Formats: sequence, structure tokens, C-alpha cells
Amino acid sequence: MENDKSKIVPVTRPSLTEVKEFMPYLEKIWKSKWLTNNGQFHQQLEKELAVFLGVEQISLFNNGTIALMVALKALDISGEVITTPFSFVATANSIVWNNCKPVFGDIDSQTFNLDPDKIEKLITPETTAIMPVHVYGNPCDNDEIEQIAAKNNLKVIYDAAHAFNVKKKGESILNWGDLSVLSFHATKVFNTFEGGAIVCHSKEMKGKIDRLKNFGFVNETQVNQIGINGKMNEIQAAFGLLQLQYVEKNIKKRSKIAELYSSQLKNVDGITIQAEVNDIDLNYSYYPVLIDKDKYSLSRDELYDLLKENNIFSRRYFYPLISNFSTYHSLPSARIENLPTANKIAEKVLCLPIYPELEDKDIGRVIEIIRSKI
Ligand SMILES: *Cc1c(COP(=O)(O)O)cnc(C)c1O
Repeated sequence: MENDKSKIVPVTRPSLTEVKEFMPYLEKIWKSKWLTNNGQFHQQLEKELAVFLGVEQISLFNNGTIALMVALKALDISGEVITTPFSFVATANSIVWNNCKPVFGDIDSQTFNLDPDKIEKLITPETTAIMPVHVYGNPCDNDEIEQIAAKNNLKVIYDAAHAFNVKKKGESILNWGDLSVLSFHATKVFNTFEGGAIVCHSKEMKGKIDRLKNFGFVNETQVNQIGINGKMNEIQAAFGLLQLQYVEKNIKKRSKIAELYSSQLKNVDGITIQAEVNDIDLNYSYYPVLIDKDKYSLSRDELYDLLKENNIFSRRYFYPLISNFSTYHSLPSARIENLPTANKIAEKVLCLPIYPELEDKDIGRVIEIIRSKI
């Protein structure tokens, strides 16, 4: 196979249509002069997403982090929130921005999600919520988590930033828990440049969330909560409507790439791929592998560097763990001995390039480099 070392392969790349497809949307915005504040495209995207995803109520946001912050606020969460250290830092940051304390629980060694068996011993009289993450779009053990929550009178907010259109037995997992939060950042499976959303179960809750994202205004003259500006603008919403037409096709392309990686990497000593789980429709947003340096010739970081020398940019998601950032590491729950599995996975994990336009020959390059070091 020819090895064009100079071609840059990023870990992810947004899928864009031709710009001329977006022009009619822009012309409509220019004509209406309605740029934000629940405009026509905003309303249309909420409707289309609710139908597409199979969820009851959805409220759009300017990004996923503000959506996480508002989700906690909408449920009046206070005190302590049990969450996972194996996530993007925004998960824990949103808790601290609400003046709450994140309490880290260890993860499951197969799914890399918050391990339900580790949750109960972290519950104190201060605990009011659990914030699990569907890491790489792999669904959390919602039955266990929600049983624990019900028994202890806790709310459940899923950080579903990776879980766009993920289904279990044909049903959206975004309907789980009290609220689920999506991110539509440029690097995600469905993007609006920047963006996000909260999925909830009732019109009343959507109303509360919609007020919170609009400064707390109830009407023209009254503010009854400390809100924030979390509104998605019309350009973002219009772009979302265009993206939505292609997202299924793009997820299919991603699944083909994941299939190719898996077929070529599943029998490599020291490389562990994630097992496929029955009844789950994934979105293939990431392609994580674990590198075991005792069985493979390179450590994770050495493989990361080798790929980089070949202009292939993999990512160490999620390394460092949130609990190991200096802003969190002084918390008792952040100690390494309390989070053995998360620390072990964070040392081994590498996410390989995956995006709809990734070409077979580039996937071939990645595989060839990995296999050359068996
Ligand atoms: C991307 C991401 C976020 C943050 O979303 P933004 O839209 O970038 O603010 C939160 N949590 C997780 C797990 C993410 O991957």
C-alpha cells in the first residue's frame, strides 16, 4: 500500500455540505432580519429534532456546557453531585458553576461509564443528583443508576454529549433520567458549529428551561429566576436543519469505518477494541482502543507519537482524567486510589481518527502503522 506520509489525518473533521446549499437559509435570515430569540429556524429545529430523535421535549442551546449548567439549575440541584472523572472537563465544571461539589465515582472497565456499584457508598446527606456520561455514546447502565436514584431521592441528569441518536432496543436513550444534555459542537456527530440541547419530559419543564436560557424572563417585565443567555441563534439553527438531512448517512459512513478498524485490530495482541453490545444502535462518534504495553511493543503514548510522526492525529480521550486536573485533584473523591479503573483506562486509551469523509486508504495507513509494531 502506498504510504502518503505527508497527508494530514485529523482525529475528527466536521462534515460540511457545499456552501451553496446553505445560502437559501442565509437569505431567509437576511430577509426576515430575525437573528436570534426563538426565531423561525430555532422553532423548526426543535420540532424536527424531537421527531428525529424520538424525544418528547427539546430546548436548544448555544453550547452544551451552558445546557449542562442550566440543566442542574432547572432541577434546583445543590450540595453534592456524583459524576464520572472519565469525561470532558465541562461535565464537572458545570457542577462547580452551580456552586455544587462534584463527587467522583469509578468507572466500569468495559463500558468506561460510571459504575453503578460504586455510586451508593458515595451518597451522603448532601447528595442531590447523579450526572453520568454516556461515554463515546455507549449507554450507561440506566436501570441500576435510576434504581439507586429513586431509592435515595436523587435526580439523574445524563451528559449525553456523545449520544446523539443512540438507541437501545429501538428507543432513544435521551429519554432516560430527569434530563439529558446534548452537545452540537463542531467535533460532534451532529453539529451546529457550537450548540447544545436539553431533553426533558414535560412542557412545564421545557418552559422553565426556556426561561432560564433567556435570562430568567417570564414575560416582558418580569424575571423570576437567575437565568443566563443560553440561546441558540438563527444561523446555528439553520445549519442544524441542513446537517439533520445528512446525519443518518454520516452515521452509516462512521459505522463502516468502525467495522473496518474492528476487523483489522480485533486480533492484535495488546490492542483491545470495545465490544459491540446487542440491542444498541451506536453513532460511532469515537473509535477508542486500549493499548496494553505489556503485550504490545509500544506504550499508548509511544503509539500516539508514532502516529503523529506520520501526520495521523489520534487523541487521548479522556486523559488526563477530570479528577487529575489541578482544579479537582484536592477533592477526596479525586484520589487515585479511589478511582483505580478510571486511572488505568486513562493511561491506555487512544481514540483513532473517525469521520464520514475519512478515506479507506487513510484508515489503511492507521491500521498498517499499528500492525507494523505487533
Ligand atoms: C463536548 C462535550 C461537552 C461540552 O459541550 P460543548 O458544546 O463543547 O460546550 C460536555 N460533555 C462532554 C462529555 C463532551 O464531550
